[in-house]
Amino acid sequence: MARLTDPISMLRGIGPAKAKLFEQLNIRTLGDLLCHFPRGYQDRTKMVTVSQLQADEPACFRATVMNTPRTAHIRKGLDLTRVQVADHSARLTLTFFNRKFTADQLQYGKEYVFYGALSGDFSGYQMTNPVFESPDAPPGATRRILPVYPLTAGLTNGVVQKAVAQALALCDPPEEILPERIRQQYGILPAETAYRAIHDPQSMEEAEQAKRRMVFEEFFVFSAGLAMMRSARTSVQRMPYENTNLRPLLDALPFTLTSAQMRAVEEIRSDLCGGTVMNRLVQGDVGSGKTMVAAAAAWLAVQNGDQAALMAPTEILAEQHYATLSKLLTPLGVRTALLTGSLKTGEKRELRRRLAAGQIDFAVGTHALVTDATDFSRLGLVITDEQHRFGVAQRAALAKKGRDVHTLVMSATPIPRTLAMLMYGDLDVSILDELPPGRQAVDTFLVGESYRPRINAFIRKQAAEGHQCFVVCPAVEENEELDLRSAAAWAETLQKTVFPDLRVMLLHGQMKAGEKERIMGAFSRGEGDVLVATTVIEVGVDVPNATLMVIEDADRFGLSQLHQLRGRVGRGDSKSYCILVSHNRNPETLARLKALCATSDGFQIAEEDLKMRGPGDFFGSRQSGLPAFRAADLGFGLQTMKEAQEASVRWIDSREYVQSREGQALLKRIAALFAGGEATMN
Ligand code: ADP
Ligand code: MG
Repeated sequence: MARLTDPISMLRGIGPAKAKLFEQLNIRTLGDLLCHFPRGYQDRTKMVTVSQLQADEPACFRATVMNTPRTAHIRKGLDLTRVQVADHSARLTLTFFNRKFTADQLQYGKEYVFYGALSGDFSGYQMTNPVFESPDAPPGATRRILPVYPLTAGLTNGVVQKAVAQALALCDPPEEILPERIRQQYGILPAETAYRAIHDPQSMEEAEQAKRRMVFEEFFVFSAGLAMMRSARTSVQRMPYENTNLRPLLDALPFTLTSAQMRAVEEIRSDLCGGTVMNRLVQGDVGSGKTMVAAAAAWLAVQNGDQAALMAPTEILAEQHYATLSKLLTPLGVRTALLTGSLKTGEKRELRRRLAAGQIDFAVGTHALVTDATDFSRLGLVITDEQHRFGVAQRAALAKKGRDVHTLVMSATPIPRTLAMLMYGDLDVSILDELPPGRQAVDTFLVGESYRPRINAFIRKQAAEGHQCFVVCPAVEENEELDLRSAAAWAETLQKTVFPDLRVMLLHGQMKAGEKERIMGAFSRGEGDVLVATTVIEVGVDVPNATLMVIEDADRFGLSQLHQLRGRVGRGDSKSYCILVSHNRNPETLARLKALCATSDGFQIAEEDLKMRGPGDFFGSRQSGLPAFRAADLGFGLQTMKEAQEASVRWIDSREYVQSREGQALLKRIAALFAGGEATMN
């Protein structure tokens, strides 16, 4: 027997090189492997005779090899191997392209099980590149429901499948965390059954049931964790703030707050004066003015003798916040400071000394704020900006630096209300659904490849006017299979052949953090004309001088994500544009993208996304910054998640879990899911 924590390198066929590839999929242990769920299935259970085979309808059939495979060398890089097979009903020619080695394994006179589809019918039956195996071997690639796994370059589905099968044979699947009563009530498979069935289902129904179990389970763990955090916090008493005069701050603003901002500020004020700890999420579209809401919260904290901290996901963003906020608050007597990782050691030490001595009222910074070296003397409010780059864990880490700390989380990802309640079960939610007056919408266009010359001319025109341009690509490296534009290759093409006279920069998620910061910094200082990037620029880049956003293969992104990307332009005074490029001709896809051209309301777009793509997208780690949801991509409905939440909240409230084996297993899973955040749960 093996354990779930054993490294996958213990499996047959997985050496250091393969292990590295698995690592790219975040798979290190047998447990990780068992939680690497198929993204779909191919039903290869249907057996037919050769004469029953249909064009474009793959099926399995048994047939005997009628001759020795013959290979013709067509031209450089193209070999074609042909072989005849037959059963009692008909004869069929199989064609293998560049698969001589595979095809040569077919032995004259022997019978095999094949899986494939007929293509074309012009010259009789014809089949290209079928898979096959011996009828005596246990079903591997034929006669079964085949799991189709998420992969990475160099790793085939077969390799993953074999590794998973070995792991299933060697160790027990993860422990049961759902009490039987709940499983029965909601019709949920037991853990053991489900972990086997999801990788090797006997029927498509069983696969569905297994998927439902995984979604239910994962969401149950997540939502039980949130329920615990919520109950931990609502039981903490705290002195209400008494000094709640916002006038000096409001009078110092060069504008009046929108009514949505006002509402959020009031909600915050009432939390802070309520006698328990605030834990509030402010959701507002890009540009809805969240910074001022944060300023108001910080103001109230400082007026009541607390220190406040604002944590931003990048140095650039921290610097920007600091510039805005210190300009506003310093004249009002609030002592502000900026603390980031790139300060000199001496400066950092001095700042930390002043924070600990209580000589700074409001600290703005990055992760540096949460490191162990930073101490506050009376931290009372923690604000995190762009929630979806911060884990629940980091939020908890910062809150631990003070006693009974109020937290305010700001997110620029509009999320439909129903979903927000599921995702942020531990938070109260304020919504900024209004933009400050006078904000101009970003003109958005959907175009095909034929517009390329015009797009290039437009980029050139913006650059000539001294503006900057973002070009977003879905992939980092060239991916032939999907024909996606890769950021790296596209940046090179643009620089070398299209815009040799412009300064083209490249930014992608696989770069080191410091390198990313350096490039973003340089671009925001105007040291580049065109920034080719992956979605890493989704958050945290504020370049008011950028007026054009080109999004390649736009159909590959969710609407909310496109909207988020689009929010990177239109931040200055100049008219701004967004061009969505797509070769996709699917009417539904086009309708989706056109919806984006027609509206700039993030909440409306999010609702649309939820309707069209389901909730999985919102939980993808990319957008949510929540713990990694393994089952998020399984394509499940809201209903299952709601049921899991309902069940978990009841289970936690009943406190029965404390006594039960499943409850203990659940606690371990919660701790692992929120890794680092355990201390806030009791
Ligand atoms: P968010 O963080 O929500 O994307 P910001 O707080 O950065 O938005 O605000 C965007 C811009 O709008 C800033 O330049 C800010 O000064 C301005 N702004 C904020 N609130 C108002 C308001 N009520 N009226 C006019 N301008 C505002
Ligand atoms: Mg902001």
